Amino acid sequence: MPDIIKLLPESVANQIAAGEVIQRPASAVKELLENSVDAGAADIKLFIKDSGRSLIQVNDNGCGMSLTDARLAFERHATSKIREANDLFAIRTLGFRGEALASIAAIAQIQIKTRRHEDELGTLIEIEGSDFKQQSPCSCPAGTSIAIKNLFFNVPARRNFLKSNTVEFRHIIEEFQRVALVYPEISFSLYNDDRPMFVLQATNLKQRIINLMGNHFLNRLIPIEEKNPEANIIGFIGKPEFAKKTRGEQYFFVNKRFIRNAYMHHAVGSAYKELIPDDSHPVYFIYLDVNPENIDVNIHPTKTEVNFRYNQVIYSILKSSVKKALGKFSLEPTLDFDKEQGIEITPLPPGYIPKQPEIKVDPEYNPFSQQSGTSQFQVKKPVDDSWKSLFLQKTEEQASYILQRDTKEVYTDSTESNEFTTPDSNFLIQLNARYIVAPVKSGLMLIDQYQAHQRILYDKLLERLSTNKTGSQKSMFPQTVHFSPANADIVKEILPQLNSLGFEIESLGMNTYVVSAIPGDSENEDINELLEKIIDNYKKNLIDLKSDRNTNLARSMARQMAIKPGKILGSEEMMEIINQLFASKAPEISPDGSPTIRIITLNEINKKFRE
Ligand code: ADP
Ligand code: MG
Repeated sequence: MPDIIKLLPESVANQIAAGEVIQRPASAVKELLENSVDAGAADIKLFIKDSGRSLIQVNDNGCGMSLTDARLAFERHATSKIREANDLFAIRTLGFRGEALASIAAIAQIQIKTRRHEDELGTLIEIEGSDFKQQSPCSCPAGTSIAIKNLFFNVPARRNFLKSNTVEFRHIIEEFQRVALVYPEISFSLYNDDRPMFVLQATNLKQRIINLMGNHFLNRLIPIEEKNPEANIIGFIGKPEFAKKTRGEQYFFVNKRFIRNAYMHHAVGSAYKELIPDDSHPVYFIYLDVNPENIDVNIHPTKTEVNFRYNQVIYSILKSSVKKALGKFSLEPTLDFDKEQGIEITPLPPGYIPKQPEIKVDPEYNPFSQQSGTSQFQVKKPVDDSWKSLFLQKTEEQASYILQRDTKEVYTDSTESNEFTTPDSNFLIQLNARYIVAPVKSGLMLIDQYQAHQRILYDKLLERLSTNKTGSQKSMFPQTVHFSPANADIVKEILPQLNSLGFEIESLGMNTYVVSAIPGDSENEDINELLEKIIDNYKKNLIDLKSDRNTNLARSMARQMAIKPGKILGSEEMMEIINQLFASKAPEISPDGSPTIRIITLNEINKKFRE
């Protein structure tokens, strides 16, 4: 039998190895930015085209490379950062495996121009799929400029595997932020298809966080600092009231590297326990510095994981320092005096004439006008005025549907359920400020007010989106809202939908929008928070549910605007919810699939007395 083992050709081996390091355009961005940081650059510019598919370019003013180094840089395991095995345990630079450039060169077309400060002429090199195409002297600024063109041009499988431009670009922003958040002393900029997305001046850490995340972070951050022989900690944590339902802004860095570590994440979370609801996540930007000898960062090629030698010690240091910061903050006045850096609040641009607030809601409308109208709960005017007739036509069949489904053994004759369609508001009670309880013929009906109201709003919002009919609006004095670039991207994407839902939002460019009206059904006063929560929800749904844009948006807004558990309701308010719920298309489930209604049947009640 002949020998069957063959060595893979070098080019194939390189492509396979490249897959480990470069999964998507964002991975190449990360490697290039880190190389520029390692090269001591004070200014780093990133240019992206087509979400990195056609171009990823980084220009820096770092140390540059000699002709020989520039050639060597593309060899596998070529690195200037370690000389001997021992160095591995003292490594402070971001790169050290010498794999990134070789990997990228295997799967793209690369042009590099580099010049050391002491040299007069620089070097130009072009490589395509690991093959050197050209090398010549060139005049260029001191530092390095690397352009990666047509990533994965020779690996169609990888290219096809890439997600939509929006998704890939979001990953790029995320990597950019992770580097920019660690080096506020370096100026960074990001240009997307020739448009500037970030232009970040060198500054202090707090200002860098605000510049990246949005002005609304200004009053949300609490400083944290801890000096300890095992670990030093600096950074900022979010005030408890700004904890979020999604795990968006949680950044943990170890020795200047972004790291995921569930155990340390838990340490931070547990310090917030009792200060925030269980399903909320605190915002944090925590920078841990430990002796490199006590960590092992080399366990994964993309290096976002880390093992600490003294895991539990670090856990308790972290937890106690977060607790300390939170405690200190709660004793301090809430005014933020830390403005020495001159925080920029985006003003209205010159020439922008704010619209006069104009009231579009019907001031006469009172949903409870036939009744006493003492309630504090406002069910705003439904868009569809015919809802009452809808209700009258529909409830019978729907109510009997529900009754039949849940109480088959008791009820078989659907015409008998008439009585149920008009429960008397006098018999309604609210349980635990959350459930509406109504006696019905088959037993007891329980309605979850939050889920039910979400269903009602969701239907309304979806209808507005599909008919393009603007709902009722609350106008207000125009207010500028500044989003993080990732969120600004989403706002841009769903702007027409937001506007047909009752918002009036216009883009001012550079991630800033001006809002001059919000939906009439909304009870929120804080526009920033309302929009942010809607977008957070929207993002979460994008990942979890993959629903289409309108459904996702209606769901996110309904969730945000619905009356929450804990809200005390009067009997007319409860009646109104029941009426509107049964006018809905699917009264028995909320938009996210939770039940809105449960019935405890007489059978079940009878049983309880005979057990
Ligand atoms: P690593 O960063 O792990 O050393 P890379 O493949 O990323 O490996 O880079 C190889 C080498 O090329 C680096 O060690 C460094 O000497 C050089 N290099 C890469 N990018 C730059 C840059 N922007 N400026 C100066 N030197 C660079
Ligand atoms: Mg590197």
